[in-house]
Amino acid sequence: MLDLKDAIRTIPDYPKPGIMFRDITTLLGNARAFRRTVDELVQPYAGLKVDKIAGIEARGFILGGAVAHQLSAGFVPIRKKGKLPHAVVSIAYSLEYGIDEMEMHEDAVQKGERVILVDDLIATGGTATAAVKLLQRIGAEVVAAVFVIDLPDLGGADKLRALGVPVRTLIGFEGH
Ligand code: AMP
Repeated sequence: MLDLKDAIRTIPDYPKPGIMFRDITTLLGNARAFRRTVDELVQPYAGLKVDKIAGIEARGFILGGAVAHQLSAGFVPIRKKGKLPHAVVSIAYSLEYGIDEMEMHEDAVQKGERVILVDDLIATGGTATAAVKLLQRIGAEVVAAVFVIDLPDLGGADKLRALGVPVRTLIGFEGH
């Protein structure tokens, strides 16, 4: 049986000392692991009405595109500030050091559309929480947020659940 955890490469002390970087490029490069990951992410939602998948730049684009295809949904990119060409809505969120901004096109989702948020990993949940707020601001119903990797010690998934968003993760790593 293929273990998805074995397909993820861990790089200690990247991008800075103390961080265990969970590198999914090895999983994406493994045909069976990539396919299984996408299958497992979508499994609870197959057959349900999902209008759009929103992916967070950049790894959320790769996974989100595949998830959108599988669920016959549209794809919406949530990007770093200044990358989208049309009118945007934006939200500031805190990173470990300082503040960043993410944006999406203001017409990317229609009011009441059912959206699933996708990213590779949830840590503190700061990024995903901002993305959920942005989606809700333009009227999306965020029916779930899905991630390949959870770092449960950092509490991000619980934080999203406390906002009323169901969360699905496939693999957990202890620590950070
Ligand atoms: P957070 O906002 O703290 O939940 O961080 C989540 C975002 O940062 C995701 O887009 C991840 O890709 C990235 N990230 C955070 N921690 C790690 C880690 N240990 N390994 C790989 N990516 C990470």
